[in-house]
Amino acid sequence: MNLSAEKRTCYCSEVRSSQNGQEVILKGWVHRRRDHGGVIFVDLRDRTGLCQVVISPETLPQDQFDKAHELRDEYVLAVRGTVRPRPEGTVNANLPTGEIEINTTQFEILNPSRPLPFRLDEYTNVNEDARLKYRFLDLRRPEMQKNFMMRHKLAQVTRGYLSDNGFLEFSTPILTKSTPEGARDFLVPSRHSAGSFFALPQSPQLFKQLLMVAGYDRYFQIATCFRDEDLRANRQPEFTQIDIEMSFITAEEVYALMEGLIAAVWKECRGIDVPTPFQRIPYQEAMLKYGSDKPDLRFDLPITEMTEFFSNTDIKVFAQTAANRGIIRALRVPGGAAFSRKQLDDYTAFAGIYGAKGLAWFKLNEGGEMQSPLAKFLDADKQKALVDAVGGETGDIIFVVADREKVVCDALGQLRLKVAADLKLIPEDKYAFAWVVDFPLFEYAEREKIFTPSHHPFTMPVPEDVPLLDEYNADPAKWNAGAMQDNPLRRVRAQAYDLACNGEELGGGSLRIHNKDIQDKVFQTIGISGEEARAKFGFLLDALSYGAPPHGGLAFGFERMLMLLLGEKSIREVIAFPKTQSGADLMVDASSTVDEEQLKELFIKTDLPPVPAKV
Ligand code: ASP
Repeated sequence: MNLSAEKRTCYCSEVRSSQNGQEVILKGWVHRRRDHGGVIFVDLRDRTGLCQVVISPETLPQDQFDKAHELRDEYVLAVRGTVRPRPEGTVNANLPTGEIEINTTQFEILNPSRPLPFRLDEYTNVNEDARLKYRFLDLRRPEMQKNFMMRHKLAQVTRGYLSDNGFLEFSTPILTKSTPEGARDFLVPSRHSAGSFFALPQSPQLFKQLLMVAGYDRYFQIATCFRDEDLRANRQPEFTQIDIEMSFITAEEVYALMEGLIAAVWKECRGIDVPTPFQRIPYQEAMLKYGSDKPDLRFDLPITEMTEFFSNTDIKVFAQTAANRGIIRALRVPGGAAFSRKQLDDYTAFAGIYGAKGLAWFKLNEGGEMQSPLAKFLDADKQKALVDAVGGETGDIIFVVADREKVVCDALGQLRLKVAADLKLIPEDKYAFAWVVDFPLFEYAEREKIFTPSHHPFTMPVPEDVPLLDEYNADPAKWNAGAMQDNPLRRVRAQAYDLACNGEELGGGSLRIHNKDIQDKVFQTIGISGEEARAKFGFLLDALSYGAPPHGGLAFGFERMLMLLLGEKSIREVIAFPKTQSGADLMVDASSTVDEEQLKELFIKTDLPPVPAKV
């Protein structure tokens, strides 16, 4: 009987020695083929794994057997055969099917394959562009299939947990209006209205808030978000969020529910018990101790505030930095006294990437000697006070950076990560979760010299801090002319939280503004006039005035979570059809030019020769 018309009996990797003597039908791809003169061995592969198939003239008519010589890598094959134990000494303990093989009684080539552009089992040397161009082949690799099965699992566990906890799954529009998440919008021209555009959602933020106003109480969506950013490593123009919103909740309730989600995910996807509740770190403390609002807490190495200490020393640059409202902080590295001159130069250059104009160091050598170009400026008492302040011990090095706060945080924060990696202080396969809380509502954009929302403009300020908005709004010109440090906006705290894990921001969210007056104040503060607010967010302001419940939520980066679960370093390994760093899809060749006719319909005229985005 024609094999292509017959149903397979199981997947390739499901065959076991308990089936010895039984007939099976398998279908899959020729992963490897070994022609041992009289007998041909095929590793037949499907998405579950491999099974060894033996094609021998002893069990097949000669004309059929001869056909087996045509088999090449990635031919699609159907096989009927009997399960039998592998001969002694050829058992492969690394394969679930390693004890058996299939003695073929019939086979059929369902489809041949051209020679591959790269070998699937030697892909590590293959350039990524080739992998992306032939993604349908790249995705055949068992490593990739493992990733996408995990992706499926993560989605299912998430759905199960949220659904069990009363969340309803929604879809929100893709063709919509700009949602300010801080990136550039992708725009889609409207054919019905000349010169008008839809924006693709940067997140479903406003829709989920409106669903709360509509009374749905608990919402979730595994949502695609679109942000036209310059692609930094591990960003994609379209990515996925686990997007969540709840009504009548406190931040504490959000933490507890979300810790439950993370625990369920880690347990079911990785078999790992994640202890809850998670640690909480105020934003200011995270910035001070780890130089980051997404601290890697798998290892300690805290940074110490030393501005006051150094401003009272004879080290002129430090005193000057302090006098100019800069700050000075120290990073103690156990064992760092052994760093060579070259290593110190490299670390100085590294800190320079983040803007540090220098990296001071103090080695704590054997016999209590402090070695440093700056040691002569510190008398014995001061040296001792420095060592005590950072908890130094013999064999350590103390790094010091003096600069603007942002530079000090970035430089020491990054140095902390680099040194920890170099000294192998970061435990593999450990997950350190922490909620970062008490974020400032605004951040100061140095270049533009304006305050912008740290998260998005719908984040609820801490109630006691609302008068600071009034203080600023009463006379913005006065405050903007003054020193940035004195601006009351710097002191407004947000009811916002991020979940950090291993130095990544896994997600973040906030309690939202559900009161129109406060929303108006925030818009005014960030320079969105009443008119502009109506034009852009009239629907939201309306909704807030029709009995909006208190609500809040958050979103997790779905791919970020997957990367952590899988230990993958690149986001492209967990997206089936990703774009390159420059935003191109090499497989379908997008973006690409379109017909003049299509442009006309969309009222688009262009004088530029169209240049499709390429790598
Ligand atoms: N919409 C936010 C974001 O995309 C998440 C949230 O506040 O729920 O970052």
